[in-house]
Amino acid sequence: MRADTTVSVRDLYMRYGTDDVLRGVGFEVRRGEIVCLLGPNGAGKTTTVEILEGFRERSAGDVKVLGADPSTAGEEWRARIGVVLQSWRDHGRWTPRMLLRHLGRYYAPYADPGRGRARDVDELIGMVGLDGRADRPIRLLSGGQRRRLDVAAGIVGRPELLFLDEPTAGLDPLARREFHDLVRRLVAEEATTILLTTHDLDEAAGLADRILVLAGGRIVADGVADDLVRRTIGVALVRWSRGGEHFARTTPDAAAFVRGLFARHGEEITDLDVRRPGLEDAYLALVRQHEEGAV
Ligand code: ADP
Repeated sequence: MRADTTVSVRDLYMRYGTDDVLRGVGFEVRRGEIVCLLGPNGAGKTTTVEILEGFRERSAGDVKVLGADPSTAGEEWRARIGVVLQSWRDHGRWTPRMLLRHLGRYYAPYADPGRGRARDVDELIGMVGLDGRADRPIRLLSGGQRRRLDVAAGIVGRPELLFLDEPTAGLDPLARREFHDLVRRLVAEEATTILLTTHDLDEAAGLADRILVLAGGRIVADGVADDLVRRTIGVALVRWSRGGEHFARTTPDAAAFVRGLFARHGEEITDLDVRRPGLEDAYLALVRQHEEGAV
């Protein structure tokens, strides 16, 4: 294991009843990386993340998070990770300031001289853009404002590792962009490591340094978004029609392919379309391939 390994998962198995949901999951996350875990509904993303957070017992496998096994790690370890859960609905009568101050107290005994104490409440409110809303009841916040509060709650204790579960679901495009800026700032300024799940493939491609795809109980792809696309689909998707029939091919060299096509069929070609596939194309191809193989 490298010295900067923050998360290390090897041969992770999870069985619910007779259902093997995770069947040998393995991956690593290094310090300061933003890694996105993708997978269809029911693939086992939440299960995986909750095992890493220490909220769920695994069936088998080796898991190390910040150097400890989450199933036995104590409160000091927990104070070093941040978890952005779904909204704090039970605290509707509280204000954001009350909630964040309360959470800040929890971290006080675990203050790490290297990273500083729990974040100042005003600083936190400014970071997530909740100025002007800090002293109103949480139940009066809009969906997007609640999401920002969830994020603020996750970073009160200056976590070394932050888990984000579909952090931008329900946010409008501006709030989403501000959230992405906040995540990048956490990484740039504090070397926070981020593991997020999302169904938004543009978000994954734009934000993550590395993508993990979970399908059929295993990690079926692990890499930089552009590499995944190149390896899975090729560099370009060429579509054309000839004699009323439609054709589609992927190719590593669109220019050479199109030259060859015209050399062979010249004026018979109509509706030529050359497209660079994106992460969504690669993701769908991978999931189809591995979910089918798993049944
Ligand atoms: P994802 O987050 O990728 O949608 P989950 O980890 O929530 O996937 O679920 C993976 C599979 O495990 C699903 O089929 C789900 O029904 C099942 N599952 C999740 N939690 C439990 C549980 N506590 N008991 C039994 N089955 C579960």
